[in-house]
Amino acid sequence: MNAVEIVARKRDGHVLNAEEIDFFIQGYTRGDIPDYQASAWLMAAYLNGMNERETRDLTISMAHSGDVLSLEDIAPFIVDKHSTGGVGDKVSLIVAPLVAASGLPVAKISGRGLGFTGGTLDKLESIPGYRTDLTEDEFRSQLDKIGIVLTGQTKALAPADGKLYSLRDVTATVGSLPLIVSSILSKKIAGGADALILDVKTGTGALMKTLDQSRHLARALVQHGTALGLKTVALVSDMNQPLGHAVGNAIEVQEAIAILQGHGPVELREHCLRIAAEMLFLGKKTATVEAAYAQATTLLDTGRAMDKFRSLIAAQGGDVETIDHPDRLLHAQAIHEILAPRGGYLSAVDAAQIGIAVMRLGGGRQNKGDQINHSVGTVIHNKVGDLVQRDASLATIYANSESQAADAAEDILDAHTFTDSPVPPLPLFYDRIAA
Ligand code: URA
Repeated sequence: MNAVEIVARKRDGHVLNAEEIDFFIQGYTRGDIPDYQASAWLMAAYLNGMNERETRDLTISMAHSGDVLSLEDIAPFIVDKHSTGGVGDKVSLIVAPLVAASGLPVAKISGRGLGFTGGTLDKLESIPGYRTDLTEDEFRSQLDKIGIVLTGQTKALAPADGKLYSLRDVTATVGSLPLIVSSILSKKIAGGADALILDVKTGTGALMKTLDQSRHLARALVQHGTALGLKTVALVSDMNQPLGHAVGNAIEVQEAIAILQGHGPVELREHCLRIAAEMLFLGKKTATVEAAYAQATTLLDTGRAMDKFRSLIAAQGGDVETIDHPDRLLHAQAIHEILAPRGGYLSAVDAAQIGIAVMRLGGGRQNKGDQINHSVGTVIHNKVGDLVQRDASLATIYANSESQAADAAEDILDAHTFTDSPVPPLPLFYDRIAA
């Protein structure tokens, strides 16, 4: 068996067996197979696809390309969540402590943002001192002590995915269903998950732009996750407009704290409660999803979710003062208001355009490894369907300089589309897919 033969077999439309897939993945992870052969293989897999059995073998091989965490001695059943990424998605910051407050352990390994998509780790790092590089011993001991960990992926977990994802990013092979499924599920299996709720986004600010594509991905994730022994449920949710109002890093932490304190945007609260309810249900905390929703509401409204968030921040070295006084998180040099140039109903508040504007402000990365500025971002004041008066504030921009704020103002204004006739609000969720 050699790498060229395997590339040629995929190129010619053959179905690869488990040994061939594993040979290729482990060889690439070790560095024995170079990037140019892996690039050719990725493109062959992108163009010719992989069948269900190949996708599963690829997932298993990637999951076992490094350590596989076993947390059974500390937490017999781990429920994880994964979002396919979007703009203003701070749901993990709220849902993780909310679920942990029920007594169900949450051991969450999160990622960084790339392009206009934000990442949970970047948001958390806007809290001074917060550590996202826990060792495995620290991870275990914290999970045991307080029942929650929110940290970054170590190089030891599913390293094949880290290498392949970077290569996909620069070889136009990100948007392949089997490659996305294996990437997401391999990380979750390596991270020790027993059950998984997937928040599959759809719309302009999502990886999948159409509802059909997103449903297809959600079904594939549920089908493969279930076959691999994970209890899996997927919700397909809207990403045509930002989730909540805040888009940035520190500013999203502020909004997450507002929700944990019982205020904040109602649709963001509803989104979080729905995801948390699915997690509590998968974790057998309640007999029905409806009962889990009621439990999640109580955990939020009694302040127990906020208490858990505070414990999490303290345990990972974060400055808890900034959690109690979230205005201390923001240090932007220039603050600008954008006023509505006309009155009317909003028919679009384009998530991708707003995400790109925040990335250009320095709140996101154009390239992997770029430094980001945690203080910049924007608060978008309206949602699709809102009736806006001329000269009302559309958005507040937090920037590094007046000129950056002015550039972002143009892009953010451009993301808003007005019409004269009423427009219905966008739904939060489009579908729920279970095994
Ligand atoms: N998220 C992932 O983790 N992997 C993909 O391939 C796409 C989205």
